[in-house]
Amino acid sequence: MVHFVGAGPGAPDLITLRGKELLEQADVIIYAGSLVNPKLLDYAQDGCEIHDSKDLNLDEVIETIKKAESEGKDTVRLHTGDPSIYGAIREQMDILDENEIKYEIVPGVSSFCGAAAALGLEYTLPGISQSVIITRMEGRTPVPEKESVEALASHGATMVFFLSSGDTKRLQERLLNAGVAGDTPCGVVYKATWEEEKKFVCTLYTLDENVKANGIHKTALIIVGDAVAQSGYEKSRLYAPDFTTEYRKGTDFDAEKA
Ligand code: SAH
Repeated sequence: MVHFVGAGPGAPDLITLRGKELLEQADVIIYAGSLVNPKLLDYAQDGCEIHDSKDLNLDEVIETIKKAESEGKDTVRLHTGDPSIYGAIREQMDILDENEIKYEIVPGVSSFCGAAAALGLEYTLPGISQSVIITRMEGRTPVPEKESVEALASHGATMVFFLSSGDTKRLQERLLNAGVAGDTPCGVVYKATWEEEKKFVCTLYTLDENVKANGIHKTALIIVGDAVAQSGYEKSRLYAPDFTTEYRKGTDFDAEKA
């Protein structure tokens, strides 16, 4: 059986308990060496066969899995963050289906959650933004026109850009051209939750300058939106003293109307 496991954003103790147990029991581990913290491999048992997928193409990954299956072995395919976000797992699962190889997915803490924790952010601040857009600029993988930076920026929601820190000059220009204000706060987190994590908050006007000054060009997230300032929001209704919920009677409680 194959287990697609989310490794979490970097810190080895941010993998799920389930993911860790599967790593401990795996006969074969194929991990994304360009992004997964190698310290996670310390959980592997002695004799576990370990492959770095950055040196393999899709066929080679599948061949490694097929060989393990033919020997009755368990494989962990370890992906960074959560496998559902830019994880390229669908193409692997389709081939496993064709070959009648069983698999499961174990979720992980995505780096956009690690980055929010690093910056002490709540993305969804009442009165500021109630939506988070996870997106990227196109690279070798195109982005549908409807999801262009310009189209998505028009919503004014909090935006988290993956896979885009290599060209922040262009990202900055495109956001400004789309009408996003130059003083909009931006958060940048490089290697969130790793020992070498770097993080800062700047404005859209100074985004590229700050990213370059910090020597960042990959493994970073760029968060754009008023929510990054973490001010000017409204308090949540859920915890308001006058607010009655299914679980708690607030001062607005009227037994006659309940
Ligand atoms: N599945 C992963 C994303 C893989 S795409 C997830 O859920 O996080 C790879 C991109 O994710 C990188 O280019 C970078 O933009 C982002 N990324 C992955 N790990 C990161 C980390 N620890 N800190 C900041 N960005 C990270």
